[in-house]
Amino acid sequence: RSKDSGGNQYQYYNPSMNKRNTELLHLETNLYQAIRESQLCLYYQPQININTGKVTGMEALIRWQHPDLGMVSPDQFIPIAEETGFINSIGEWVLFTACEQNKKWQQSGLTPLKIAVNLSPRQCQPNLVTSLKQILKETKLEPEYLELEITETSIIVHPELTQEILEELTEIGISITMDDFGSGYSSVGYLKKFPFQKIKIDQSFVRDLKNEPSDLAIISAVITLGKGFNLQVVAEGVESQEQAYLLKNLQCDTMQGYFFSYPLPVDEATKFIQSVANEGIFLP
Ligand code: C2E
Ligand code: MG
Ligand code: MG
Ligand code: MG
Repeated sequence: RSKDSGGNQYQYYNPSMNKRNTELLHLETNLYQAIRESQLCLYYQPQININTGKVTGMEALIRWQHPDLGMVSPDQFIPIAEETGFINSIGEWVLFTACEQNKKWQQSGLTPLKIAVNLSPRQCQPNLVTSLKQILKETKLEPEYLELEITETSIIVHPELTQEILEELTEIGISITMDDFGSGYSSVGYLKKFPFQKIKIDQSFVRDLKNEPSDLAIISAVITLGKGFNLQVVAEGVESQEQAYLLKNLQCDTMQGYFFSYPLPVDEATKFIQSVANEGIFLP
């Protein structure tokens, strides 16, 4: 057993775990290489309108295929990218790639979808507006097909600046979603003050929906709140038919989660969109 450097907790020593931890420490250096050597890619997860069964949007989720570590999850490297400032070049790459892909789907004849892209707090700076205008111009994607997901952290750090930027983006025609709603401060005041079109209920409330009456109450309240503010409400992390049923009964009409589809690499994502384009998905 080795003593954990952080405190007085003991961890069992496992050589492969140790190797991974050491390598994770070097992610910062590796991240530079990742960008240069195109080890980053986007997966796409469909969002389903449960009433029509159709795909209404796709969320772009970044993946890092590390030559030694395999797939490194964004929760592991996005924080490092934020600290080191790499997030700006990564974020720009994500925005460009996602917009370009959405345009390709449109050009292949599919019904136009919205592409949702996650934004880090550090990306919420005035140059974001300039850079997005350029990306939309280059990819020829109409702004109404781009949606940006932000979390409360962006708002808390620089509320005035963030509000200004979000308003400019809304003016261009891009829509803004409040991601992970309920996981942080979730000030209702934000919904009034900031130009959101959509809120995403945090997956922690969906997880135990069946056994936790309080989660049901929270989701129901968020849906009512959303309707009151004229916002669309999306439930994420829907893993079972039972959860989908409960959410449908609460009149949540857009859902995302493993029950419908895992996040998929681009070719599989394309097949998924095509396969449900005509009939849609229906809850049996
Ligand atoms: P998020 O935006 O809240 O994304 C939802 C996360 O839940 C994703 O994890 C997704 O793969 C996962 N998920 C989807 N359906 C289910 C389900 O049914 N059950 C469970 N248990 N999980 C589900 P992922 O892809 O690992 O991303 C984690 C977080 O990393 C994202 O949370 C987002 O905050 C961040 N992220 C991902 N891509 C980007 C990016 O391109 N830029 C930035 N800045 N952040 C990103
Ligand atoms: Mg998201
Ligand atoms: Mg989320
Ligand atoms: Mg999240």
